[in-house]
Amino acid sequence: MGVGHAAVALGASRASPRLNAGWLVFGAFLADFLLGIFATVGLEQAHVPADFASRHYLTFTFPYSHGLVPLLLWGGLFGYIVSRAQRLDQRRAFLVLAAVVVSHFLLDGLVHIAGLPLAGENSPKLGLALWDHMPLELSIETLMAGAGAVLYVIAAGAGAPRASRWGIPVFMTLLTGLTWTQLFMTTPPVPAQLAVNWMAAPLVFGVVVYTLDRKRARGALGEPRRQGIR
Ligand SMILES: [Zn+2]
Repeated sequence: MGVGHAAVALGASRASPRLNAGWLVFGAFLADFLLGIFATVGLEQAHVPADFASRHYLTFTFPYSHGLVPLLLWGGLFGYIVSRAQRLDQRRAFLVLAAVVVSHFLLDGLVHIAGLPLAGENSPKLGLALWDHMPLELSIETLMAGAGAVLYVIAAGAGAPRASRWGIPVFMTLLTGLTWTQLFMTTPPVPAQLAVNWMAAPLVFGVVVYTLDRKRARGALGEPRRQGIR
């Protein structure tokens, strides 16, 4: 899944408004970032189906980055590290960050064909294979992207900085377009390039949203101090 992960992150940002949404977007893609690392060192693999040109998707062996139990651990670790750096609402930030990381399991479980293991490669797998109905799957992701952007903009409020009110919806539109390109892929990607993409994309998406959300998040941090002085 592509833009759907960012949509969940933006929707979740209203539950922890003082946290910069860039952390949530990176967290939502953390499993893919880890897949890039594990693939680079040879612990996880992508497999190209013989009829890739008509299927447009890969299958994966990725128990460490995309398994449910590992993701609970990764989510806890990521949530702990990032929330410790927050000045306020650390507990809330931890819970939202961890939940967003783990949400990757459910979202990818909707679309993947071979499925995502619960714990270890030989454990039961969640894979509802929506990628076999790719236009439908991409339409669902597009709706999610719209909903995530709208929830974020509403939560940011009418007085939010322009980067939040306009920049985030534009980013989500571009990411939606990028997600749809999967439907037109007929030549399988080069494995070495894939691993680089899996690591780079979450970083780029996270940094872009962090930059766009910076002013808003700072404003959200400022409010309680002003109230405290009163
Ligand atoms: Zn994934």
